[in-house]
Amino acid sequence: MNSIEDLKPRNKLFVMDLVKEAGIDVSDWANFQGGIRRARTNPKYCYEWAFSNSSVTVLNIWYDSISQELDEILLRSNLRLTSKSSSTKGIWKSRANKFDRHVQSAYQNNHTVRVIINDGYRREGDLKTEKASKVNLRLLDSMPWTVTSYDNISGEFVLSRGIKLIDQFDIDSNVTSPSEKHSVIGEVFFRNPEVRKTVLKRASGKCEFCGAKGFKTSSGELFLETHHIVPLSQGGPDTIYNVAGICPNHHREAHFGDSAEIIRDTLLGVISRYYN
Ligand SMILES: [Zn+2]
Ligand SMILES: [Zn+2]
Repeated sequence: MNSIEDLKPRNKLFVMDLVKEAGIDVSDWANFQGGIRRARTNPKYCYEWAFSNSSVTVLNIWYDSISQELDEILLRSNLRLTSKSSSTKGIWKSRANKFDRHVQSAYQNNHTVRVIINDGYRREGDLKTEKASKVNLRLLDSMPWTVTSYDNISGEFVLSRGIKLIDQFDIDSNVTSPSEKHSVIGEVFFRNPEVRKTVLKRASGKCEFCGAKGFKTSSGELFLETHHIVPLSQGGPDTIYNVAGICPNHHREAHFGDSAEIIRDTLLGVISRYYN
């Protein structure tokens, strides 16, 4: 389902139409001598690699630059390096530079990133001996991407497909572990990260008790806590059948609330329904 092959563009589409579909105003594309009829070919815009408004950033990337690592699809790159390279000339320098700035600002401002995937002939080497890159096929990925890391000093970044889901153990293991240790007096329970990951995916960012959406972290991830319905200390198994994705409020309530039992029974019911 999450395969690179599915992202291979098969149609010849125009950048302007895809940028518009991503939610960015393209009315200024018609502001040139070609007018509205030729707006798609406005040279001021149509060769650009990055676009944005106050909440969305659209990045043009190459299909063959995307990689798959485990079950993640991502792009690792550094356009600042490209813009400074001696083999990058003229207009490409400024396009690479602009792309770098768009990535940086998407990272800092927590923008949703939409990706236009390009396929075609791509110039790798010398500007003089090789013909210019030519894009034949494009698509706008329907899934949003996230800039999951950006190094301000080097310009290196990672762009990941989808929105990353995290729980309390991903945020700061030091915060949670000591209190867990105290509560079980000397016993430390191992939590399988694959179980947590699977549960977060199943919950897809929404509390499995109340349905409320988790919050977005400052680095763009979607936060939800993971909770053992029957506690590990009472012999509850560390499996997807006993772990729920739950909002921070209901998590505290599940442990300390008057309605802890109701929450437990509801969660067990909700989760058993997934697997029947
Ligand atoms: Zn909740
Ligand atoms: Zn818990």
